[in-house]
Amino acid sequence: MAAVDKDLIRQLVDGTISRDNARQLIRMARKDHERFWNYLEVLQARVAWRDRILLRLNDHLYIVAKTGGGRVVKCDCGHEFGDYRTNWKTAALINVRRTHDEFAQVYSPAPACPEPEWQEIREFYCPDCQAQLAVEVVPPGYPLVHEMLPDLDRFYREFMGRPLPDESPDWYVDRTQDTTRAWHAAAR
Ligand SMILES: [Zn+2]
Repeated sequence: MAAVDKDLIRQLVDGTISRDNARQLIRMARKDHERFWNYLEVLQARVAWRDRILLRLNDHLYIVAKTGGGRVVKCDCGHEFGDYRTNWKTAALINVRRTHDEFAQVYSPAPACPEPEWQEIREFYCPDCQAQLAVEVVPPGYPLVHEMLPDLDRFYREFMGRPLPDESPDWYVDRTQDTTRAWHAAAR
């Protein structure tokens, strides 16, 4: 396997890659930049919308550059969760499991269940396609876990050598508190 071509990356994304090829990928001494661009191309070809994918967050979510400006979190179904600096979970549907019976529906065997009152399970879903986007097990009242706030400007400039056209120091700032502060004000 001399080069990591696009077809191999497609197999990796689809989960059809052979065990041998996957093992070889992991063992490659030097990971070439081209692989990232090919990966983005493969991802872009799988979605129906045209906003440019900057980074994949998980199985369904991407940070995309909007054609009219802005960087937002977008589901593969097309649903947008807003500016990527705000934790997308604040705009998701959330199901919270609190009791032992509710835990037992998703944990097996029962002794593996978290302790009710000490822990809760939060499941996050897309409001449009209902795909499950994330699950977190945390103490009740714990803030929504912001899984990833990437420094996209630095990544594209320093690591990939292709700076983004809309670079700004404002991009690498967590804005989640703006939303929770607005909730707080509305609840008073
Ligand atoms: Zn969706």
